[in-house]
Amino acid sequence: MSKVEDFLSAKEEQEIIAAIRTAERNTSGEIRVHIEDHTDADTFDRALEVFHLLKMDNTRLRNGVLIYVAVADKSFVICGDKGINDVVPCDFWDSTRDVMRTQFQHGNFKQGLIDGVLKAGLELQTHFPWDANTHEDELPNEISRG
Ligand code: CA
Repeated sequence: MSKVEDFLSAKEEQEIIAAIRTAERNTSGEIRVHIEDHTDADTFDRALEVFHLLKMDNTRLRNGVLIYVAVADKSFVICGDKGINDVVPCDFWDSTRDVMRTQFQHGNFKQGLIDGVLKAGLELQTHFPWDANTHEDELPNEISRG
């Protein structure tokens, strides 16, 4: 098995998807998780590439957020789209990153992703409140794998 398959069981994956649904109840923002083994590129550059490949830059308010994890590299990046970056300070994701990093350091990958997803949803809520009139689930909640 590759590291990616070891990283999360099917059951754990379902729990993370449930967290994405919960997080998206608070905000019009769209959160996705992408997991792959390794990248030769700079982690942030690769995250931006995946962001584009997943068509996450196609949301109405440009408020998609990708949590990208390179398992073997032991690295992860949280990256938001233009609509978010235009209105938040550049340390906006630091608290989300920190809760994830703490769990990852203890080997709690599933909980790190769940905490990260929920925290990202709460952070987004202030700037992108959930709107019942216009809200639709614009991006799939499934975890993608590289
Ligand atoms: Ca979604």
